[in-house]
Amino acid sequence: MQQAEWGGLAETEPQDFDRVLTSMCTEPHPRAREAAERFLATNPGDPGTYQTVAKLEERAVELLGTITGLPEPAGYITSGGTEANIQAVRIARNRADTDDPNVVAPKSAHFSFRKAAELLGVELRTAPVIEHRADVDAMNELVDEDTVALVGVAGSTEYGVVDPIPAIADLANDAGALCHVDAAWGGFYLPFTDFRWHFGHADIDTLTIDPHKVGQAAIPAGGLLARSGDLFDDLAVDTPYLESTSQITLTGTRSGAGVASAVAAIAALWPAGYREQYHRSMDNARWLAQQLRRRGHDVFGPVLPLVTADLSVPMTDELRKRGWRVSKTGSGELRIVCMPHVTRSMLRSFVADLDWY
Ligand SMILES: *Cc1c(COP(=O)(O)O)cnc(C)c1O
Repeated sequence: MQQAEWGGLAETEPQDFDRVLTSMCTEPHPRAREAAERFLATNPGDPGTYQTVAKLEERAVELLGTITGLPEPAGYITSGGTEANIQAVRIARNRADTDDPNVVAPKSAHFSFRKAAELLGVELRTAPVIEHRADVDAMNELVDEDTVALVGVAGSTEYGVVDPIPAIADLANDAGALCHVDAAWGGFYLPFTDFRWHFGHADIDTLTIDPHKVGQAAIPAGGLLARSGDLFDDLAVDTPYLESTSQITLTGTRSGAGVASAVAAIAALWPAGYREQYHRSMDNARWLAQQLRRRGHDVFGPVLPLVTADLSVPMTDELRKRGWRVSKTGSGELRIVCMPHVTRSMLRSFVADLDWY
């Protein structure tokens, strides 16, 4: 073996998920992994040439439409939630008639909207939240005639809460602005809850849902959906040297692995597998919240399978030293995301380490 030629890769294992409590990504489903490998050398960015994967992408969008209450969805598989959110803001900006566009979102909106605002020259106005949820009145106060979109989060990144999407959609309608829902993380849990969050529940225009998070597809597989194909018209760019004539995506060449693995994962898990996963993850999150409360911590959640608690900085540092991959919210709480790879026995040994401290 000439390992030097491999740059040491042969002896290097990717990190396993045994102690990962903070990531919104997870182990891909075995079929998603296999599909990603098979389609590694395809480019859905050039659908005229790579027709098989282009067909698969249509299938992926259909499946995402089924999950989000949209019988005839338009959309595509993005590189992730970030690209989907950027593109949603771009759609809203391009179709509006203003030189000074703004987007109104709750403070809890993902930082990708800050990237979108900066890239697109759009002002991002963020409204205070109540119990981490969007406050529709506060959002209303920020809306004016230059508002091109309102954003609601369905499964927030830090606390896992769901904004009042129908009320935000009404506000957007009244303002003549688009309504975008960010369900990048929550989208594969929410179908098994009573929340009203998708196209079937409210008059929303665009929605982000990421197969590469709770959907268990391989990275990169995000999703952007739109109520109607016309919404993408303003994004079209001519593509002279490709077999296809125009492109609506942000990236050019992109991963067929993500597209194929999204189809494979959803076909394998929708709906029974995801339902079971939701219940298992919620049970785990409730168990963890109870254990932390019993130990005197101030706990938030779980609304969706995510829990935060007021652990001290030294305590968190000690957990990190013991190999736990944990993170903090912007206000300093410990944040645990109960993804599919997070098992009860993992959480038991995590709690045991807390007790040691
Ligand atoms: C993770 C996340 C994103 C960003 O998605 P990436 O795939 O990391 O680009 C956007 N919004 C929410 C709510 C998220 O949780």
